[in-house]
Amino acid sequence: MISEKRVLEILQETGVLQKGHFLLSSGLHSDSYLQCALVFQYPRYAEELCRALAAKLAQLRPDLCVGPALGGVIIAYETARALSVRGLFTERDQEGKMTLRRGFNIKPQERVLVLEDVVTTGGSVREVINVVQEWGGEVCGVGALVDRSNGKVDFGVPFHALIRLDVNSYEPQACPLCQNGIPVVKPGSRK
Ligand SMILES: [Zn+2]
Repeated sequence: MISEKRVLEILQETGVLQKGHFLLSSGLHSDSYLQCALVFQYPRYAEELCRALAAKLAQLRPDLCVGPALGGVIIAYETARALSVRGLFTERDQEGKMTLRRGFNIKPQERVLVLEDVVTTGGSVREVINVVQEWGGEVCGVGALVDRSNGKVDFGVPFHALIRLDVNSYEPQACPLCQNGIPVVKPGSRK
């Protein structure tokens, strides 16, 4: 069992946890941002984190793992490796609909774990759950590296994240960082 302290240590060491003034994809402003791709560039950390996640989720007896591209690709694969099951990813088609492509398939009644790097609103996870259900699979649980939902998400199945990091987010009109004249940046756009 990995401690939250150890998870936080890894996120800080790899620069995942960023402080500043960010425009989130939801349109809200925030004083912090997580760039999880930075931790997954290190296979040894990916292995350590996903092995811990897999240990927690193994009791759900999944037949496969699936995550949404791009953020969920590595976590789904690495967790699948730790569980010795298949690892798939979903992606958006030209109309923007989440779907399984590339010949990936889910058989009816297969037990599916949905993996995502960071869960904030849970929107992408719900889209993946819909894809699994369209294929006739059974979603047995959801796993994530970080829960940023402030405890608000409910997927109707067991949900486990390695760490919960609550987020301060603001409507632009009510953002204290804007009021202090600090320029807002889109995450990932900084040099
Ligand atoms: Zn702001």
